Amino acid sequence: MLAPGMRRTAQRTMVYDAIVRLGRHCTAEEIAAELHKGKPGFPRSTVYRALEALTASGSVYATHLGDGPTHYELASGDHHHAVCQVCGGVMHIQEELITELESHLEQGHHFRPVRTEVLVVGVCDTCSRNPGRPVNRRRTIDPTHHVKETA
Ligand SMILES: [Zn+2]
Ligand SMILES: [Zn+2]
Repeated sequence: MLAPGMRRTAQRTMVYDAIVRLGRHCTAEEIAAELHKGKPGFPRSTVYRALEALTASGSVYATHLGDGPTHYELASGDHHHAVCQVCGGVMHIQEELITELESHLEQGHHFRPVRTEVLVVGVCDTCSRNPGRPVNRRRTIDPTHHVKETA
């Protein structure tokens, strides 16, 4: 029998790999569904526990993309998002712009940022060019919406 710690590590690896396979911002539900494909009956509570641990250790980001459930993604430099309110597409905001905002606060207002999380809600290029197009309201991520692909 594996030590409990070992089992937890294996579960975390499985959850992490599921996020890699999904390759985008995904909800705990989507991760659970992905794990179900390979291993029916994979407990949902395990998914939540593993996500908590992965988030705490910094290998996964938990992000709020407006209303709706928390989304998870692999940790990268980019943690700031612009979300299209029509199609739900998500774009990463370049870190340099956020650094600029932070130094403006610090130098202009003597406000020292400790934690910054920027969320801009708007309408993406595709949706503003095609106002009548049928839209899948599900919050899937179109990679073409990304300003900069993460590694
Ligand atoms: Zn993201
Ligand atoms: Zn859109």
